[in-house]
Amino acid sequence: MADLFSDYEFFRNKKYSALCQEELALVFGQNTYHLLTHSATGGLEMIAKAMDIRPGDEIIMPSFTFVSTANAFVSHGAIPVFADISISDFNLAFTEIEKKISEKTRAVVVTHYGGHSTNLDAIRQLCDAHQLIMIEDAAMAFGNSYNGQPLGTIGDMGVISFDITKQISAIQGGVLLVNTPDFMDRLDAIYHIGTNRTRFETQKVPYYEWVDTGSKYQMNELNAVALYDNLLNRAHILNKRKELSRIYFNELSSYADLILPEHKLQENIHLFYLLARSEEEREALRHHLSEKGIEAMFHYIPLHTSKMGKKFPSGTLPVTDHVSGSLLRLPLHTGMTEQDVVEVCDAVKRFYNGR
Ligand SMILES: *Cc1c(COP(=O)(O)O)cnc(C)c1O
Repeated sequence: MADLFSDYEFFRNKKYSALCQEELALVFGQNTYHLLTHSATGGLEMIAKAMDIRPGDEIIMPSFTFVSTANAFVSHGAIPVFADISISDFNLAFTEIEKKISEKTRAVVVTHYGGHSTNLDAIRQLCDAHQLIMIEDAAMAFGNSYNGQPLGTIGDMGVISFDITKQISAIQGGVLLVNTPDFMDRLDAIYHIGTNRTRFETQKVPYYEWVDTGSKYQMNELNAVALYDNLLNRAHILNKRKELSRIYFNELSSYADLILPEHKLQENIHLFYLLARSEEEREALRHHLSEKGIEAMFHYIPLHTSKMGKKFPSGTLPVTDHVSGSLLRLPLHTGMTEQDVVEVCDAVKRFYNGR
């Protein structure tokens, strides 16, 4: 440890950030420009800045998502227009997006719930037809793709989280994926505290100076060390999660509504969840598991029903309300053994068999 901290050049040269970049280029391809950030939250804030959001601009997004999706835009005066999700995958429902488009709409943010996507071709076409920016909150979706294209690279811009709660982790971190050249120069300046540092480093200008607003969005080098380790081990980590999820699926599919279709088990699994028939049933199951020392969690308090979200008009979002009331996430992490998963499944079965 002391050796590490005495090595000034080690940190200054950002060797591990560069190594992570090389790995990420393998995952996301050469056409996508990626910036390692301190979080997906930071990446979304950069996107809002680059879009020059003005007060009153409308951004269509799910209510069934994490607060960061909305915060980035609302901080610049935008109005989050919450659209309902589909019961088949908990992602924005296409017809609900269509209904919410107005003269003031600037962008659609799609969240890939649990890391799984919906029909993104249709949403891409809708955005193009209305000249809207498409943003992917792919925070949960590292390593998954849609029609062979990595999630996060289909919208104009996307973010992926490497938080400790996600499958591939930097402890804290994220990556901003920029797929449309229009935004690259601005995002690059915003990323470098509002300077044209990249142009200086690539010897396009003799010095670097203040050219835009920005902040210190870069990933800390210590986090890059952690991320590089996880990226090198990604096949093992992702496979282990798939194997554990397969056990959940086989054991529980005849007991509870798992929502996830079997073919999705071939994708990377960020969360394994079931849908109870009601909030009462979900809470009863949660308590039943808790008594056995098993921590199962709900997801999310929908943004439109939260203290901040209520400040914006949303209309009714019946599917969002139903799903957030009934969804239960079962434990899933690489420290679990197959036997641990079987024990959770047995506890769930005992609940449905009348205990
Ligand atoms: C985790 C998550 C975020 C935030 O990611 P951070 O890296 O912790 O900032 C944003 N959106 C969604 C959908 C998430 O799941």
